[in-house]
Amino acid sequence: VRVALMADRAPAAEPSGPVIVAVGSGKGGVGKSTLTTNLAVALARAGRRVGVVDADIYGPSQPTLLHTQGQRPKARDKQLIPLDSPYGVKVLSVGHLVDPGKAVAWRGPMAGGALVQMMEADWSGVDVLLLDLPPGTGDVQITMIQKHKPAGAVIVSTPQDLALIDARRAAELFAQAQVPVIGMVENMAGYACPHCGEISDPFGRGAVESEAEAEGLPFLGRIPLDLAIRQASDAGEPPAAGDGPQAEAFAAIATRLGA
Ligand code: ADP
Repeated sequence: VRVALMADRAPAAEPSGPVIVAVGSGKGGVGKSTLTTNLAVALARAGRRVGVVDADIYGPSQPTLLHTQGQRPKARDKQLIPLDSPYGVKVLSVGHLVDPGKAVAWRGPMAGGALVQMMEADWSGVDVLLLDLPPGTGDVQITMIQKHKPAGAVIVSTPQDLALIDARRAAELFAQAQVPVIGMVENMAGYACPHCGEISDPFGRGAVESEAEAEGLPFLGRIPLDLAIRQASDAGEPPAAGDGPQAEAFAAIATRLGA
């Protein structure tokens, strides 16, 4: 799969919706939401008009990551109007629709209804819609993929074996739904000790690139395990919006995506 997804779309006669790119992972906690946010910001900095739908119903983190906590989207003719984050990225999350912690108790149909509302929100003016999927390969993911047919998917994994096995399952899920996997990203590879500067590899290194190669998928890049990324993310200041090496790492991945 080559990544010209966003680069050269022929102008459509009818106004068409944004190109949907799903970001998935086999496991939770590997940095899928962090990557989604920072790719969105990096794409916006490269001139794309970007939106994010946070479909991670049971652990929505985009309100924090994109600094829109406590905001509620307005609606026009029953259609939701996405929120404007301070980083030039529009966003909608289940976390914007309910009080913190409430969605956890939702049954499938309610969650499904909220996801449809977010996907069918007024995304006019947005070229690329990144979809932050829940981790794993369950019903929500399958429904989202089948119903909204992303143009492509990015799979995030950390380099340890257990995460990789699950990442492979995520890749299979997309393949079954005939959604091309644009490529894989290795997160939390290589930790620079803030005291001595020595690089260590708590989860190993390079395994995601080898996995991508074995599966015949493009490797999109590597983000180190970096305290600054965690701190900035928790503070709602995406590192991709800054000017450090972290921003460069995310920008490089955005470029490979076709920014
Ligand atoms: P997921 O969406 O896969 O569950 P998150 O994006 O929520 O994972 O990340 C889980 C935690 O790890 C968060 O606290 C986040 O700030 C942190 N994190 C993600 N990527 C990195 C990284 N490269 N370096 C340091 N911390 C990271």
